[in-house]
Amino acid sequence: MLSTDVCIVGAGPAGATLSLFLSKEKIDHIIIDKASFPRDKICGDGITLDVLHTLKRLSPDLLAEFDAEAETLPSWGFCFHSPDNTEIRYDFKDSGFEYSPFYSVRRLDFDRFLTDRIDSHHAQFLTETKVEGIDKTYEGLLVKCRSKGEEQLIKAKIIIGAEGEKPVVSRYLGLEHYREKQHLIGAIRVYYKNVKGFHENNHLEFFFHQKLIPGYFWAFPLNENEANVGLGMVSTAISKKKVNLRKLLPEVIESHPRIKEMFARAEPLENTKGWGLPLISPKRRIAGNRYALIGDAGGMIEPFTGKGIGPGMVSARIASEHIREALKSKDYDLSSFEEHMYRYYSGEIKTGYTLQKTLRYRPLLNMVVHSANWKPFYNWAHQKMVREWKRWI
Ligand SMILES: Cc1cc2nc3c(=O)[nH]c(=O)nc-3n(C[C@H](O)[C@H](O)[C@H](O)COP(=O)(O)OP(=O)(O)OC[C@H]3O[C@@H](n4cnc5c(N)ncnc54)[C@H](O)[C@@H]3O)c2cc1C
Repeated sequence: MLSTDVCIVGAGPAGATLSLFLSKEKIDHIIIDKASFPRDKICGDGITLDVLHTLKRLSPDLLAEFDAEAETLPSWGFCFHSPDNTEIRYDFKDSGFEYSPFYSVRRLDFDRFLTDRIDSHHAQFLTETKVEGIDKTYEGLLVKCRSKGEEQLIKAKIIIGAEGEKPVVSRYLGLEHYREKQHLIGAIRVYYKNVKGFHENNHLEFFFHQKLIPGYFWAFPLNENEANVGLGMVSTAISKKKVNLRKLLPEVIESHPRIKEMFARAEPLENTKGWGLPLISPKRRIAGNRYALIGDAGGMIEPFTGKGIGPGMVSARIASEHIREALKSKDYDLSSFEEHMYRYYSGEIKTGYTLQKTLRYRPLLNMVVHSANWKPFYNWAHQKMVREWKRWI
């Protein structure tokens, strides 16, 4: 039997980041993943500013290493295309940033980048090890795993659920787990090659297509002339409109003049793959006596854009602070993490949820994009983003 202070279940961006922060604090722990790395994760592969900020907080060198990785493609801006095909495009190439504000990188490579840095001095990284049960004991928790066919038991003071969208830790602890359809997005991804017409500064392209309301289609350029392409919709709308996302993808490509042009000679590199995105919009129970849920396991995804890598990594950083205090005080209640997380994200939750609701009304969405294109507003928003972002990277 293994014994540890902290057992992290899942080595995606949330779990791996927590491991890195705990190692920085010299806190010994075990991190478990059922997969063997490198492994793929269905995602848009869009890296946002909160990811860069978290890497920098781990170490400025780490951010520089990430930027220098061959697989990462710096992206200097983004474009929103409204249902009536108006564009609002922001570019930050000449805004004086040391690093680009976005990147795209396949999750196979990004997650490997993080897991390669798990520090064996403080972390025991068990891959191909699946958590199959958790018992509460007088002394703490007993985590039951299956590792390459063998049963493995781990005694832990604290358990952290970082297992992604399919609940494991909350289920085995006998807690309520939440995947409410109105706060869940269903999405699909396909890697393509030969998608043409991306902006020269590798902008991330978001299309708010009328067939996808409330949701959107994206095309993000990757290195080696490939692209991450996909679409997503709020799950209640998928059920209500009886939408088949896989069938909708070619329809959207064919029916939109700009997308059609971009995909004229494009070829898919894989079969369409789908996954869920649990949104942060409702407040949930994500921490308590001896446990906390981070990343998708805690439902941390921003409701408008669907970004979850950054919030997952930020939740890991915040959790590490509460774990450190809990171990120091020997009171293993992590409830304060929950309050901290929702306080930290309160502004983003409100804005994201309001924008997501705007997505449901086509004329409103068109109007938002048109007004955002009004020169004085556009310049103000651009300058505001530059000012705020400079504090982050
Ligand atoms: C189609 C799509 C597009 C997206 N696009 C973007 C985007 O462009 N940018 C962005 O920021 N976010 C995006 N997201 C969201 C993002 O992918 C997630 O928020 C992110 O992966 C969450 O990271 P995580 O570490 O919480 O979980 P995950 O990355 O899911 O990692 C969980 C890990 O836990 C392991 N695990 C699961 N069960 C067990 C078990 N029983 N025992 C042991 N290990 C276990 C898994 O093997 C996995 O490695 C997208 C999501 C989807 C579905």
